[in-house]
Amino acid sequence: MEKKAELYRGKAKTVYTTDDPKRLIIHFRNDTSAFDGLKIEQLEDKGKVNNKFNYFIMQKLEAAGIPTQMEELLNDNEVLVKKLDMVPVECVVRNVSAGSICKRLGVEEGRDLNPPTFEFFLKNDALHDPMVNDSHIASFGWATEDQVKTMKEYSMKINEVLKKLFGDAGMILVDYKLEFGLYEGKIVLGDEFSPDGCRLWDKETRKKLDKDRFRQDLGGVIEAYKEVASRIGCPI
Ligand code: ADP
Ligand code: UDP
Repeated sequence: MEKKAELYRGKAKTVYTTDDPKRLIIHFRNDTSAFDGLKIEQLEDKGKVNNKFNYFIMQKLEAAGIPTQMEELLNDNEVLVKKLDMVPVECVVRNVSAGSICKRLGVEEGRDLNPPTFEFFLKNDALHDPMVNDSHIASFGWATEDQVKTMKEYSMKINEVLKKLFGDAGMILVDYKLEFGLYEGKIVLGDEFSPDGCRLWDKETRKKLDKDRFRQDLGGVIEAYKEVASRIGCPI
């Protein structure tokens, strides 16, 4: 598969077209960003770790019946995926309160959320990804009501699969963000699932093993990502 033009350079990944119009190559860079790109650093090995982690997780999800973008791991930093027409919303599932929900609702970090909370955010850096609801999504035509239903169903099914995967490895899946797109008219999981886009705590010590280590200057960011990978049996 030949890499052609750069299609899009995001905050952490660069997307390339290929000689197949239905396939893209995603290149995972070492750039690590937080606070809408206000804090940016290069972390050695991050691109490689997230690329391999994402491939491993998406294979697990595919095996559990979730349609994903995944085609082929090409090398340390690159993966071949289906070209999706991305739905411009982020789907966030929360099992434990942390991050923006604590500020927004004035709740303390660490409260169990049962049933898990589901939220949509509009992907728009300039507006700081505002929260939107099903009605906004349908009215503005970002997705149909059926597609919204499917994204929610897949997000909750993914929660069951991943809570177990991380739980069996001694971790709590606190929250995570997913992005879906359309491929041949069907909703398919795209983008990335890695410690950059989720929160994972050690079950016993509650040590943070995710991007909060970067956001909160806790150090040992990539060491933590590698520890998560090793605990779930993901080769890096
Ligand atoms: P951001 O846009 O948030 O800065 P990234 O640096 O992660 O994000 O860039 C990756 C971009 O590629 C995102 O905009 C994402 O929506 C898009 N993308 C991810 N997977 C696919 C796919 N399979 N097909 C098309 N676009 C995708
Ligand atoms: N998240 C993400 N990208 C975003 C926003 C959130 O990957 O643009 C992830 C984040 O890492 C966390 C979950 O989604 O695992 C919920 O994030 P939250 O709304 O709490 O916002 P944050 O605290 O990251 O600002």
